[in-house]
Parts: sequence; structure tokens; C-alpha cells
Amino acid sequence: MKVMKFGGTSVGKPERMQQVIDLVTAESESKIVVLSALSGTTNALIEISQLLSLGYKVPAKQKIDELEATYRNFIEKLLETRRAKEDAGIIIAEHFDFLNIILRISYSESLNKDILAQGELLSTKLFCVALTERHISHRFLSALDFMCIDENEEPRLERIQRRLQVIMKEFPEETLFVTQGYICRNVREEVDNLKRGGSDYTASLIAAVIDASVCEIWTDIDGMHNNDPRVVDKTMAIEILSFEEAAELAYFGAKILHPTCIWPTQQKNVPVRLLNTMQPKAVGTTIQQTAGSVGVKAIAAKDEIIAIKIKSSRMLLAHGFLRKIFEVFEKYKTSIDMVTTSEVAVAVTIDNDARLKEIMIELEQFGSVEILKNQTIVSIVGNEIAKTEHVLTTLFNAIKSIPITMVNYGGSAHNISLLIPSEYKKETLQLLNKGLFNL
Ligand code: ADP
Ligand code: ASP
Ligand code: MG
Repeated sequence: MKVMKFGGTSVGKPERMQQVIDLVTAESESKIVVLSALSGTTNALIEISQLLSLGYKVPAKQKIDELEATYRNFIEKLLETRRAKEDAGIIIAEHFDFLNIILRISYSESLNKDILAQGELLSTKLFCVALTERHISHRFLSALDFMCIDENEEPRLERIQRRLQVIMKEFPEETLFVTQGYICRNVREEVDNLKRGGSDYTASLIAAVIDASVCEIWTDIDGMHNNDPRVVDKTMAIEILSFEEAAELAYFGAKILHPTCIWPTQQKNVPVRLLNTMQPKAVGTTIQQTAGSVGVKAIAAKDEIIAIKIKSSRMLLAHGFLRKIFEVFEKYKTSIDMVTTSEVAVAVTIDNDARLKEIMIELEQFGSVEILKNQTIVSIVGNEIAKTEHVLTTLFNAIKSIPITMVNYGGSAHNISLLIPSEYKKETLQLLNKGLFNL
């Protein structure tokens, strides 16, 4: 059995959804199909939720109506029969009635999560109506019946596995299952989600718990490219990546994959394939145990990074000083990406400023604290790159003109990370593309 996940652009237009139907019915292997919301829907729902949180009901209502109209148009083109259109119309009415009701009730965080879930609920239900209309046998599985996270918002793998097994045992003959990406239940059994781009994570978690033959991530590009195609003109797809390389790229900004979606498949050694819905014959990228080749494979960039420097000539060499600093970040549940130390200072980076004030206050007891905002981490990723000949010379020669804030080298055999002011991101990625890939 395999997992096939289709992202927002792959289901965002009626003709694309038809392509998805063609792809999921092309071969006989049984599969669980994971769908995202139609492209643009989650952004629209976030906007609606924000407007409601501020009490702006009129513009929220306008957004809800606009979104409903796009769904009404969508089903007109996706479906042919009157019966199917009626069924889809009832589904749309049900979900937009919900959005209209919340205009009248008081806003809360759990309501926010309910609002955000509407996209995946709609896309999967409409997809199933289209399958039924085309007489394609399938079974709809509600992710809210099995996908769950713990108090630290981490997936509860064993529970997911148990619940999914019980549900699927009821349909031993079925070969096509459809479920939602992104949405889940939290410890309070409320509707929650796996964060932006989380449908990849859903796919990977399902692939791990069912021991899938492969986890296919179908999107709008032919695999992981060697550089960010949104920023750099000439990029190329990479055929093979190891789990480690893919995880580093996803974590350090390659938007094609959710940052933490690799570990479940890696744990169970389920290969992940990144494929293009619009060009299904393209080779794409396979992510597997072994890396294929040694050397630089790709560059990724992660924005909105904050660097924190703590200077203390008195304390730094003292036994346990670094531990005390790290404990401050642990206390405020803020994870650190990069770390460098010198005799008198330690610098770290974080990507979440929610607890920055409290962190600053606690760090000040250890020495002077300096904050640098608007930074970008540029990561150069590849198998054993730290051992690749001349890699540092080539790298630094390529970006001589860029002011570098921090450098991380040696922590991982697969990654060299640079911190630069965000205004230099585009130039840095372009210069590295030329210097490292000759593109
Ligand atoms: P989906 O909606 O299918 O989940 P996403 O928009 O999340 O798709 O991810 C696909 C997009 O990721 C591509 O359109 C591309 O612009 C962007 N992207 C960023 N970095 C990379 C990269 N290194 N390789 C491929 N795509 C990338
Ligand atoms: N719909 C969600 C989002 O836009 C999840 C996903 O598409 O992966 O973030
Ligand atoms: Mg995505």
C-alpha cells in the first residue's frame, strides 16, 4: 500500500482535481490519498479568522462570501450530473453555514483551529463526490478520527497507528482511501493542525504507521531543486537525496516539504518521492536511506531569523555557562538553530520571537545581550560536504561581497549554514548558484 499526497495547487482547479483522479486510479496498488485544501483557501481562512479576532465582522463576512463563490464555481466545472452537484452543494452549504455561524459567536483559539480546518474538510469531501460521480470505489477516512498530537504538539505515532488500523480493518476489500492532510486532534480532543504545510507531515506519518511501499508527495514542481526557484532563475531538480539531506533542506527553508515531515518515513525506511502533478512522467526526487553521491546538492534559505549575542568575559569559560544559557531557551520553549562561541561571547539564532522579551531579561544576568533582527539562514546541504575538497574556498569566494553575521560548520556532515542580513538573501542565493553549481 502506498500514500499519495496532493498539495493545494494540485487540487486547486477543477481540471487539476481531474488529473489527481486520473493519477490515483492509474495503477492497481492500494493507496491512501491525502489532500490539502484548494490553493488559497487556508490563506483566506487565516484572514477570516484574523478579522474575526479583531471584531471586524463585515469584512470577514465579505471574505466568507467570496470564498463560498469560488467553491460554487469549482463544483460547477468539476462535476457533471445534477445529483453530484446537489451533493456537493449540500457539503459547501454545511461548511459555509458553519463559517457564517461563527460570525455571531465569541472568538477563541479553538474556534480559530476549527476555522482553519474547513479547507481540508471541503477539499476531501468534494473529491469524494467527484469519485462517486465517476463510479470509482473509495472510502473516506476522517483524519479527525485517527490523527492526533500530544501536549507538546508532537504526533502520537502509536495511537495514530492503532486508530488507523482499527478503521481500515473495517474495509478489507477497499483499495482507495481518501483523507485530509494538516488537520488533527489535540490532547483535549479539539480540532487542531500540524502547522502550515502540514499535509506533507500527515502523509509521512501515515506512510510510517502503515509501513507504506512509498510516500508520494505530488506538487507543482518536478522535485526538490538545487536552489529556491522563487528567488533564483536557473535551478534544477535533484534526483536522489538522503533522508538527512532532505530533512536539513526542509528545515532550513525549502518550502516544497514541511520542516519536520521526514523523520516518520526515515524511521520506517519508507522512500519519499516528490512528483509533479502537472508533469507526472518527470523523474522527480527520491528521498531514501543512502545519498547517492557526495558533495553539495542544494541551497535553502530560512527568513525571519533573530541572532542573540551574549558577551561575558567573566562568565564564558566558567563551568556550566553554556548549559545555563541553553536552559533559558528551553524554559521558554524556543528552539535554537545556529550556535557559535568565542572566548568572550556566545551567539545563537532563533526563528520564533514570541518569548524574546523574557529570554532577554533572563540572559542579561549573564552579560550584555545584543539582538540582530531580519536575518536569514542560508544552508548549503549535501552528503559529507564538510569533507568535500575546496568546498569552503569555493563557497566563500562566491560570496566575497556579502557581509556574513555567523557561520556554522562541522556540526553536521551534511550542512554548512551562514547567517546573513535578509536584504542580501537574493544576491547570496544567486552568487552561490553560480559559484557552487555553475548555473
Ligand atoms: P503544495 O501546495 O503542493 O504543498 P508548496 O507550495 O508547499 O506545494 O511547495 C511547492 C513549492 O515550493 C514550489 O512551487 C516552489 O516554489 C517552492 N520551493 C521552494 N524551495 C524549493 C526547492 N528547493 N525545490 C523545489 N521547490 C521549492
Ligand atoms: N492547507 C494547509 C496549508 O496551506 C496545509 C497544506 O497545504 O499542507 O498550510
Ligand atoms: Mg506544501
